[in-house]
Amino acid sequence: MCGIVGYTGTRDAAGVVLDGLVHLAYRGYDSAGMAVADDDGNLFLRKAAGKLDNLLQLVGSEPVRGSRGIGHTRWATHGPPSAANAHPHADGAGEIVVVHNGIVENYAELKARLAANGHAFLSETDSEVIPHLIQELLADGAPFEEAVRLAAGRIHGAHAIACMHAKEPGLIVAARRGNAGGVAVGAGTGEAFIASDLPALIPHTSRVLFMEPEELVIVRPEGFELRTMEGRRASRSVHYVDVPRSILERGAYKHFTLKEIHEQPDAAQRALHERIAFESDEVALSELPLSKAEMAALNRVLFIGMGTSLHAGQVGARYVETLARTPASFEIAAEFSHRDPALDERTLVIGITQSGETADTLHALREARAQGARTACITNAPGSEATRAAECALLVHAGAEVGVASTKTMVSSMVTAYLIACALGQGRGTLSGERAAKRVDDIARLPALLGASLEMADASVEAIAERCFKSRSFLFIGRGLLEPIAREGALKMKETSYIHADGLSAAEMKHGPIALIGGDTPVVALALRNSLYPKMLNAVAQVRARGGPVIAVATEGSKEVTELADDVIWTPETPSLLQPVVATVPVQLLAYRTADLLGNDIDQPRNLAKSVTVE
Ligand code: GLU
Repeated sequence: MCGIVGYTGTRDAAGVVLDGLVHLAYRGYDSAGMAVADDDGNLFLRKAAGKLDNLLQLVGSEPVRGSRGIGHTRWATHGPPSAANAHPHADGAGEIVVVHNGIVENYAELKARLAANGHAFLSETDSEVIPHLIQELLADGAPFEEAVRLAAGRIHGAHAIACMHAKEPGLIVAARRGNAGGVAVGAGTGEAFIASDLPALIPHTSRVLFMEPEELVIVRPEGFELRTMEGRRASRSVHYVDVPRSILERGAYKHFTLKEIHEQPDAAQRALHERIAFESDEVALSELPLSKAEMAALNRVLFIGMGTSLHAGQVGARYVETLARTPASFEIAAEFSHRDPALDERTLVIGITQSGETADTLHALREARAQGARTACITNAPGSEATRAAECALLVHAGAEVGVASTKTMVSSMVTAYLIACALGQGRGTLSGERAAKRVDDIARLPALLGASLEMADASVEAIAERCFKSRSFLFIGRGLLEPIAREGALKMKETSYIHADGLSAAEMKHGPIALIGGDTPVVALALRNSLYPKMLNAVAQVRARGGPVIAVATEGSKEVTELADDVIWTPETPSLLQPVVATVPVQLLAYRTADLLGNDIDQPRNLAKSVTVE
């Protein structure tokens, strides 16, 4: 879950490493640290608990010098966030330093053995055994890169590590085993970089090598050498990565999260790009490897995911059922893979993971594939593990999402699920002629509808948030396709504002949750005009009758709502199937504005990390 960075070259390594950590802080931010080495064999270690600012301050007051360094932003799994537990960890002699992403599953056994052999430990982490293991292997005569390879082979559990030795000028060795998140190596001129993710590399180079699981890379300023975990030389071509730097800048926005909410019309456009043939009203998803006969044979489509991706999957399942007339459902990926599901080649399992690294979803996709189900993933991360775990990958092309609470990737995932549903409908013969043309026209209008929704929500949400940001709890209610958006609204509120929130079907209210209604609990009612609108109005009336304040999200011009709700956030007239996408905007903005009034660190909410690479 953490961010790893490394640099070797001629520049001030501390500056490059710290800058890299700033760009990766979304990956984990409960503590951070770095080690810098100079060419005379001196090693400087700086670590600080809390957000990255604390490390920046520490390095400001206690500067370090050197042209080689590694750094880490942590998301603690073993041992609480503290300076001692922050990475890098060192061996007893203080010569070997290691940053680690993942969990050393056999650390207790290794630590006991190393301690019995005289190794002293300074932290409560699992990771600290790694430099000690390397030291032991060096003492047995192995060269440094070999010692790293062998140590990586002895620790159980998926991981990525980057290691340096004070007495090995210019050298950094990184290893990747299993799926603890990616490692990318960037090639410069007379310098090289390592990072868990592209944002740390983009400012420096566009020539990037993505490490695969079970690989080791030996990095020097003049270039790098790839090896397998068996120690054989390996080779793979370097990617040319063309990502605009503006994606890393907040611009005029106060937070990345706000910027990304406003990027949603563009994100939707990019998800649609070149996937619709307007002349024939066809959706063309060349990535989907199913023939017409295979599509026709499907008897079940299952969306899996975690958090926001699961909500996108819930909407996706409704799309498939409506457009492709195939039984479709959704499930928490982590639960799916641990209950021995009955699967065969007539089931299509679609995993949604914005990072492409979500451990629970990867595990579930592999499990489904091993049991003979057809598999696909929807992801924002090209080259990520999900693209290998599933048979095929549908990239959403949302662009880098820096805010930890997902926003635009949810919209892009729903759009992509809509396209899959259309493609399946065409393949199965359930979507053709005028109906197909209408669906295609509708989705083509979505970017404009999202733009209108943003404008309308921007006009009212701030004042509403000012009235209710001190509430102790929020309820989000919706029916049909808007029920998942009620859940998403509650999740965004919890993540960013830390206010308790629940999202549920409005129909469930009278079966229990209505007992929560009172002046202190605003109810956000997703009451857009659709076939369930009259039922939503009843639910709203029932809340009002019990003195609960109601914030309605409604379709422009709906008079009935104005009479019942305390506040209304308008949305443009939208075809029912696209209402969940359009209604996502106001619930995101309400959560954002509430969190902002509370002064929270919205881009990096407490306790969270952007990609959840541990199960
Ligand atoms: N398991 C390690 C720790 O708790 C690494 C966690 C991470 O990936 O940030 O320190």
